[in-house]
Amino acid sequence: MSRYIGPSCRLCRREGMKLMLKGTRCETAKCSVEKRERSMAPGMHGWRRGRRSDYGVRLREKQKVKRYYGLMEKQFMIYFRQAERRTGNTGEILLELLERRLDNVIYKLNFAPSRKAARQLVTHGHIYLNGRRVDIPDITLKIGDTITLKNSDKSRKIVKEQLESNPNFAVQGWLQLDTAKPVATIVGMPTRDDVQLAVEEQLVVEFCSK
Ligand code: SF4
Repeated sequence: MSRYIGPSCRLCRREGMKLMLKGTRCETAKCSVEKRERSMAPGMHGWRRGRRSDYGVRLREKQKVKRYYGLMEKQFMIYFRQAERRTGNTGEILLELLERRLDNVIYKLNFAPSRKAARQLVTHGHIYLNGRRVDIPDITLKIGDTITLKNSDKSRKIVKEQLESNPNFAVQGWLQLDTAKPVATIVGMPTRDDVQLAVEEQLVVEFCSK
């Protein structure tokens, strides 16, 4: 699957909000959205943020979700169609499906500083799912799935350093983590409150349903 390889901060500036795509840098004053002179939208006419049409507002909400989880359009629409087929609130189901992606879970466990880094951890074979090596970051996890590390010093070192860099990190209630081993288990389903992105999912649904 293809992925975006351009500058991450550009995406945040386009959406006018922090999408937290660069890990620890996002918490510092180096963040482009924090810097006043660089907080405008990217491009030559970035300062011109005119009034948005209804279409534009919905488009931006969809783009926010897509970029936050690091997806390309085609991948995003696959998730949307999946959410649409299920009964319930399509917007919330969509976010729940995206939260259960393996790369997102690795990030939420604080095994990696960003989703991008989490994705790399998976593709480089450091992660084991239910005792088996996996290298596909978009696997959707389910209750009972267990995540462990490859039995190698390098894998343990990468994750240990990340866990130690942020000892006060609180793992969300749908995940259970034993930091000593480390081993993590999915013990529930993520809810809307577990999604830390300020987005109006109903507008995303309206955009994609057309
Ligand atoms: Fe976005 Fe992080 Fe760059 Fe700030 S530092 S603009 S939050 S990617």
